[in-house]
Amino acid sequence: MNCAKACSTLASALPNQVTLPNTTAYAAHNLYWSARQSEVHPACFVAPNTAEDVATAIQILTRQQAPFTVKAGGHTAFAGGSNIQDGVTMDLVNLNAIAVSADRRTVSVGAGNRWINVSEALDPLGLAVVGGRSATVGVSGLTLGGGISYFSGMYGWACDNVRSYQVVLASGEVVNASPGENSDLYWALRGGGGSNFGVVTRFDLVSFEQGDLWASSLIYPGAANRTLIPLMHELLVKGLPSDPAAHTYFVVTYAPRLGGYVALSDQYHATHTDVASPPAVFSAFHDAAIPTLVNNTRLANTSRLLRDIEQPVGDRQTWWDTTVAATATPDLLLDIVPLFEQYVTRLLAAAAADKSSVSPYLIYQAVSSNILQAMQINGGNALGLKPEDGPIMIVQLTATWTSLALDDVVERSSKELIEKVDALAAARGARSKNGYIYMNYAGKTQGVYAGYGAQNQARLRSVARRYDPKGNLKRLWKGYFKL
Ligand SMILES: Cc1cc2nc3c(=O)[nH]c(=O)nc-3n(C[C@H](O)[C@H](O)[C@H](O)COP(=O)(O)OP(=O)(O)OC[C@H]3O[C@@H](n4cnc5c(N)ncnc54)[C@H](O)[C@@H]3O)c2cc1C
Repeated sequence: MNCAKACSTLASALPNQVTLPNTTAYAAHNLYWSARQSEVHPACFVAPNTAEDVATAIQILTRQQAPFTVKAGGHTAFAGGSNIQDGVTMDLVNLNAIAVSADRRTVSVGAGNRWINVSEALDPLGLAVVGGRSATVGVSGLTLGGGISYFSGMYGWACDNVRSYQVVLASGEVVNASPGENSDLYWALRGGGGSNFGVVTRFDLVSFEQGDLWASSLIYPGAANRTLIPLMHELLVKGLPSDPAAHTYFVVTYAPRLGGYVALSDQYHATHTDVASPPAVFSAFHDAAIPTLVNNTRLANTSRLLRDIEQPVGDRQTWWDTTVAATATPDLLLDIVPLFEQYVTRLLAAAAADKSSVSPYLIYQAVSSNILQAMQINGGNALGLKPEDGPIMIVQLTATWTSLALDDVVERSSKELIEKVDALAAARGARSKNGYIYMNYAGKTQGVYAGYGAQNQARLRSVARRYDPKGNLKRLWKGYFKL
């Protein structure tokens, strides 16, 4: 791969937008959330200022058949997710405009923004969008792959709340995709990811009136799992559909500074305003019979909540996930925990032998029937999730560690744990339909698109062929998930 020529052509066509290795600007572009991505070094970064500059860059890259990738918030965990060794990485950081429409119902967001930029613009106006829950995650990657939000119970995922996308196609043409214009591309971009279709340069997002949220972060001793997981199961099948303003996820982790295993329940409510008592949907978690180690209950705006679960930059990271169908009893969700504990034991032993550290997390994220219902607006999204096939629980696995020597054991063990969860779910008749895997939490080698169902996968391929007939993006845009 020789991208030196592409870099110099880009530098002539787009002055001051290309940075080469061994410069301060290059180091700033090469900063990613996961250290595994920062260890990849492109021949150059190009950081376009406008959609037309993106078009110029795409035309040069395709003409020269130069391998490239695109970085927005840079939060993909695995190496090469949004960076490319010796290729060209397009960093969208300069596409940072945010504009609220006169009627306050739409926010136009440049594709290089992070969610904190959006919330800091909207909080003072008493507005919000269906967006991410962590400050520096990118608007682009999260929205293109789906987008789980505090507000998903009412409105669906982020991808269900995009009025229109501005997209630079493989040809360099700049088009809009909305229900009335290029509607097949609009459908594909709603959860189908970006890298097969074009570079999105602007998202026009639905905005709505929103004040402070009620939020509660509860940490319990690990043994409380046996009580809490049945409550989480109850929320998935009953509680959340009965109160769409509620949102929650549940975490099991090993935290030596808190004495070993702990369980975390993070709860949000978009309309409850009484900080002294929880909304009814979450009251069982606040029952004094289940003692907490930490109780952080507050009323706060979106920006503060985004900062509260911000994860530091610079460690090694892996993310994996699968989904299971809701069962009549919580047993499946309970029985996944001992599998996770075996995984933890294995990783802790590897870290001890290496004199380094590792932090593993098992996370349950509910996709309840009200969310599935909300996903059907505007002709539905590309994910292949239907209300009649739900509810489902996303079983997410993440690990954070410090030493390169652990990469192999963490990746292998994570893959094996997800396979064990799938096998257990299959044995209980609880595989989700199509075996849906949430793209934004998936490991590098997971077959994300197969989980959208054969029909949607075929439709996505045909949309990709229509908008990129020469297959340039398929061939040149490296990394992430390919159709
Ligand atoms: C700390 C943390 C918190 C998170 N919280 C949430 C959450 O609350 N809800 C949720 O659903 N997910 C969450 N995620 C997952 C997140 O949605 C994904 O990691 C997502 O891909 C991040 O987007 P990004 O723009 O930061 O990533 P990047 O790595 O920059 O991009 C991801 C992919 O999208 C492609 N891409 C980027 N921009 C464009 C574009 N404009 N056009 C076309 N393709 C593009 C890239 O090439 C890459 O393949 C979280 C992740 C982390 C690490």
